[in-house]
Amino acid sequence: MSRFFTDRYSSLIPYVPGEQPRDMKYVKLNTNESPFPPSSGVSDAVRAESEKLNLYSDPECTDLRRAMSEVFGVKTDNVVMTNGSDEALNFAFMAFADEKRPLVFPDVTYGFYPVFAQLDHIPYREIPLTEDFSINAEDYLTKDRVAVIANPNAPTGTAISLGEIEKIAAFDPDSVVIVDEAYVDFGAESAVKLTEKYENLLVIGTFSKSRSLAGGRLGFAIGSKALTECLNTVRYSTNPYNVNRLTSAAGVAALRDNGYYMENCRVIAENREYAKNVFSSLGFEVLPSKANFLFARSDRIGGKELYLALKERGVLIRHFDKPRISDWNRVTVGTREQMDALFAKIREILE
Ligand code: PMP
Repeated sequence: MSRFFTDRYSSLIPYVPGEQPRDMKYVKLNTNESPFPPSSGVSDAVRAESEKLNLYSDPECTDLRRAMSEVFGVKTDNVVMTNGSDEALNFAFMAFADEKRPLVFPDVTYGFYPVFAQLDHIPYREIPLTEDFSINAEDYLTKDRVAVIANPNAPTGTAISLGEIEKIAAFDPDSVVIVDEAYVDFGAESAVKLTEKYENLLVIGTFSKSRSLAGGRLGFAIGSKALTECLNTVRYSTNPYNVNRLTSAAGVAALRDNGYYMENCRVIAENREYAKNVFSSLGFEVLPSKANFLFARSDRIGGKELYLALKERGVLIRHFDKPRISDWNRVTVGTREQMDALFAKIREILE
């Protein structure tokens, strides 16, 4: 690292986002984006809003939070909008976790959690998933910690029930439980309805997956006023204009067109079950997924080997060179055509 970097950050290992190569046209199944474009309402709204780009965005996201409150059935005070849900996660870690209440999260989960923990100088403990890669709620029944649970989890795709989430939230009302629902719309149960009952429960969500806005960067947190107040203090101390005008307008329009997106999620869930069956018929082991991706491994080919062979043939999937999961690959579920293109290449590779 260069001599200019402070000691504070010199050991920081940054998050590595999924590759976005530009050298050729890939079948892109590596970053869990939606294969469907935003609704036409979103394009119209963004075009109209672009004429007002000389003015700052609304730091309170008034229109957006009003639309959120209608779709999610919560009060506007219970919603904080962010620049992607990554920002919501970072704000929540900054606001609620420290040496006295360290973070706990699974050993196999979203790779940004330990990075934000390091950035924010928060100690963390990784709790191993069970042998079959599921989260055991009992492992989180400890006091004085901030639990972070992705539900469905990533990159495994498996989900836990609301009963399990409730058990964790109820165990220590004085420490926050963060449920990262980036993939919830593809078939898991949302904990938003529990946020009224549990003041310490924070649900974090994103428009990147189910609402086709990954490039717009829009995320949110929903929780009690006791939590959203803290998040807003951190947000106003970082960047009050964290959601820009175009994204704000896109978000309002996306919520207006919610039916379109929920129908897309239904199609993706259908394609997921189709793809899971094809993987199984090819001899892969596949975890039960409630997300827009599948986690799969084969005895016939290593995880990295399959990833590289597919890349060579124009199909991108995600491989993580990490303990416990290096034999596995995460494959985004796209259109039926994309899945068939993937399987044609896999058959070719295995032959
Ligand atoms: N949580 C999980 C579990 C994710 O996989 C992702 C996507 N990388 C995010 C949060 C962040 O998504 P975004 O910042 O695009 O909302």
